[in-house]
Amino acid sequence: MTTIKLSKRLIAVASFVEQGAIVADIGSDHAYLPTYLIQKKVIQKAIAGEVVIGPYETAKNSVYRHGVSDKITVRLADGLFAIEEEDEIDTVTIAGMGGSLIATILEQGKERLHHVKRLIVQPNLHAKAIRKWAVTNNWQLVNEQILKEDGKIYEILVLEKGVSSYDDLELLVGPILLVEKNSIFREKWENEIDQRIQVLGSLDNAVETPALVNKKEQLSHDINTLRKVLEK
Ligand code: SAM
Repeated sequence: MTTIKLSKRLIAVASFVEQGAIVADIGSDHAYLPTYLIQKKVIQKAIAGEVVIGPYETAKNSVYRHGVSDKITVRLADGLFAIEEEDEIDTVTIAGMGGSLIATILEQGKERLHHVKRLIVQPNLHAKAIRKWAVTNNWQLVNEQILKEDGKIYEILVLEKGVSSYDDLELLVGPILLVEKNSIFREKWENEIDQRIQVLGSLDNAVETPALVNKKEQLSHDINTLRKVLEK
């Protein structure tokens, strides 16, 4: 049985899974994350959920080849509908998708989260959508991590049940990442400022509609706020 070699990004996601957890990995693709967690003896068992038939078949084959079919059930299902009551899932991981898609998956299947204690999500972009979903649905951030791999910057958000409230800036950049403000955080938001400046410049010659004025104001506001954050 070969041992799974995970990317730095997925090892970071795995590091937030607690010993003895029962995991649903949604959008599992090859099911590498749950396979790694079984091989490392971190988790008891897992569901690997996939909505697309190709990755679903790949996951099933991979789980079989790695000899972990008794511990990992691969299901063809949309989002959290891969989770059944009797699975006793206490941890959900969703990695490698856009933040808006992850927030939609959480919203559409939230009745499947009743027994879940921990959500570990890794949006490729727009983490703000997940933080907003968390506030509305009584989940709170208990940890956040930012990392860089192959020139790309990723955020990981760890959520547990609880009432939370974050201001606009915290929703955008992450309340925990904001306190830490490490060098990768600085790099990400310097890039984001540059992108917003470019977008603002490209709108210079556009016809002024109320929507455009709003957009320009929001961009200028974000640029000024982010600059202040990075000055400190
Ligand atoms: N989680 C793996 C990772 O982080 O490397 C795979 C990420 S891959 C880019 C995204 C996977 O999510 C794809 O295999 C896609 O089919 C699956 N996916 C997208 N929307 C989904 C949904 N609503 N339910 C289940 N899987 C979904």
